Amino acid sequence: MKLQQILNEIYQELNPDFGQGKVANYIPALANINPNKFGMAVHSISGEKAFVGDVNENFSIQSISKVFTLALAMMECHEKVWERVGREPSGNRFNSLVQLENENGIPRNPLINAGAHVVTDLLSSKYENPKYEILQFIRKLAEKEEIFFDNDVAKSERETGNRNLAMGYFMKSFGNIHNQVRVVLDTYFHQCAIAMSCTDLAKAFLFLANDGIIPYSGEQIIEKLDSDRINALMLTCGMYDSVGDFAYRVGLPSKSGVGGGIVSIVPGELAICVWSPGLSENGNSYVGTKALELFVRKTGKGIF
Ligand code: GLN
Repeated sequence: MKLQQILNEIYQELNPDFGQGKVANYIPALANINPNKFGMAVHSISGEKAFVGDVNENFSIQSISKVFTLALAMMECHEKVWERVGREPSGNRFNSLVQLENENGIPRNPLINAGAHVVTDLLSSKYENPKYEILQFIRKLAEKEEIFFDNDVAKSERETGNRNLAMGYFMKSFGNIHNQVRVVLDTYFHQCAIAMSCTDLAKAFLFLANDGIIPYSGEQIIEKLDSDRINALMLTCGMYDSVGDFAYRVGLPSKSGVGGGIVSIVPGELAICVWSPGLSENGNSYVGTKALELFVRKTGKGIF
């Protein structure tokens, strides 16, 4: 069956579920998003594309940005990354501080908030203007210049981001944040506030389905080994404390964000982005997870 036909079926089947879950309201600027939105885009490395729903509407990529910054940090800092952050699932909420005390300020992995702060700190030491470099990297991957920060979302998160700031200062007390906490966190809030659509994200993630090579331009962006490793981290740490349940149901390396987006990789074949703003308890899109589960069931494209 054609990918487009499969997406059409998923759209039909999930229609009664649209609007389910709870929109992230701890970031006030995200609270007013229409929960009934739904989009799903698939891009293959051979150029096949399929879309359904609100695929061209921008949303806040939030934690999906953690994969982009990790890829940049692995390119720039190589093994040094792993002196500062681990590679184990946390089993805790994405914004939890509890393990940091016992584990000397070394976050469990780069895809939870604390780990992403450390990654952004690494980039802050490398670049004069890390915000700009992160944005440029994403524009290159998506082959699109018109990708921007949503400054209202960044401001809203900065004004209410006490938990993230607490985490940053706590890690700094262990010596694991090297730059000024407020400056690092300002970059972090901006990377989370980048606005992209399902089509942009599916395209931008194709390099991770293609051994680190952007299929459109043929450019090797990261080494194959690093691409494999990022996929491994997405599979084991990309969906926070429901990573086991997600692997059971979907079985694809994936990363979610509290804006309601989830990106999944079918290695060697596809990148998928689904967006539905209502979240389940663990902070992952409720309908988005169901859509990916249906996709894998219908196509048999899980990695197991
Ligand atoms: N900006 C959000 C935060 O730091 C990102 C969290 C997420 O998407 N899971 O809380």
